[in-house]
Amino acid sequence: MRSFLNGPSFSVPGGSMEEDKPLRERYSSEITPEDFGTKLAVAGWLQDVRNLGGIAFLQLRDRGGVLQVTAIKKEMGPEGFRELVELPRESVITVTGTVQENNQAKAGFEVLPSSWELLSRAEVPLPLGVVDKVGADLDTRLDNRFLDIRKPEVAAIFRLRSILTEGLRRSLVDQGFVEVATPKIVSAGAEGGATLFKLDYFGKPAYLAQSPQLYKQHLMATGLDRVFEVAPAFRAEPSDTSRHLAEFTSLDVEQAYVRTSEDVMVTVERMTVDGIRYMIEGGQELLDQLIVRLDVPPQPFRRIPYDECIDMLRGDGADVPEDAEMGTEHEKALGQLVHQRWGEDFYFITDFPTRYKVGTFYAHRHEDRPELTGYFDLGVRGLEIASGGKREHRLDVVTAQMEEGGLRPADFEFYLKAFRYGMPPHGGFGYGLERLLQVLLGLSNIRETVLYPRDRQRLVP
Ligand code: ATP
Ligand code: MG
Repeated sequence: MRSFLNGPSFSVPGGSMEEDKPLRERYSSEITPEDFGTKLAVAGWLQDVRNLGGIAFLQLRDRGGVLQVTAIKKEMGPEGFRELVELPRESVITVTGTVQENNQAKAGFEVLPSSWELLSRAEVPLPLGVVDKVGADLDTRLDNRFLDIRKPEVAAIFRLRSILTEGLRRSLVDQGFVEVATPKIVSAGAEGGATLFKLDYFGKPAYLAQSPQLYKQHLMATGLDRVFEVAPAFRAEPSDTSRHLAEFTSLDVEQAYVRTSEDVMVTVERMTVDGIRYMIEGGQELLDQLIVRLDVPPQPFRRIPYDECIDMLRGDGADVPEDAEMGTEHEKALGQLVHQRWGEDFYFITDFPTRYKVGTFYAHRHEDRPELTGYFDLGVRGLEIASGGKREHRLDVVTAQMEEGGLRPADFEFYLKAFRYGMPPHGGFGYGLERLLQVLLGLSNIRETVLYPRDRQRLVP
């Protein structure tokens, strides 16, 4: 297999590379016994050097893994040998050499250099060790994220994130959904004023979108019928937690002609199962590297009405006050109870009481029991991953629910207009991509799943 990642080649003093030689012909993981005896170029970071005097073993790390370059003084000359083995750790080099079988080397082969070139010298000391046994704290790691991601076990998280996202997307496309993009600079919030980021938009007040809620519902009046979006959502969360970010990736879905929230739950379920299956199939090695064992969750996911969840918690001795919504601790305890009772990790909490969804003016309420909405949360091991349900598509009812929640319908005229000229019944959900990845990989902090997390403290890098 030929590598496609050949950059421009250049020479620096001390190097002896030919101008037209590729910097890299193979990743370490692409080298096979067929290459033994041939000369080719490898490149990467100099992870470690063990210098025994006349011979030195260099560990060269690239995206595929680590390979050994064996430098022999007698063959390279004392000057060239010294220059190479004294390079600071994490410098970037390209080496052209003969691949040779060597069972002492971890990869089963070594590269005997005939020429090499320094592409970038690393400064000393490193602000964060890449191969250190002792783990640095998360803040130091995030401050030096480019170095942190050189660690294979950290890079694995982002490679799995890529596979998972693709799996979720494919599932939705297979289910007939159209991917859309809606504005992130908006004039009104959908999830309440408390978490809005305000900004100056050519002298007018504007906000960063908390979710694409209003737009994806708007699109239900267009005939696109089934839409989804994978995009950032912004929330000025009031407190720091291990499951909240100020900027997260929201996977949002909306579908027209739903009868009940059940139609929406079916979509959530299929997308979740497809995404996980895709990640297991495409990312098994990466999962192994993280020592994560994943199974495709059994279907259907259990549906537990909110009131029953409260009963379960009370039955277990939890103190859930009569007029308070389930809190984080209750959500966690519920996850444990579901696991203990049925051995299941994925479940829906359904039929949220209307009193906890008053701010959610777009939620449809049960016709026969208006004290209940059809809204659901997808819970996974005690963590909320998604929320959604059937929406209210009748203009007069949406307007009344807005007023009930203390909002002025006039501020939402652009949204309400779409309800005036033929709006099919519809429903959908918002799904936290980082939350799903966090729970699947068993990560204690959601920040681990984001390259450059944004939170109350963090704006750089
Ligand atoms: P929570 O109660 O956990 O703060 P929420 O109910 O306010 O979440 P929703 O408005 O229902 O969140 O958003 C849909 C999904 O988006 C959530 O189920 C969650 O997976 C994800 N999500 C919401 N807020 C955040 C955040 N600040 N950081 C990361 N993911 C989030
Ligand atoms: Mg929610």
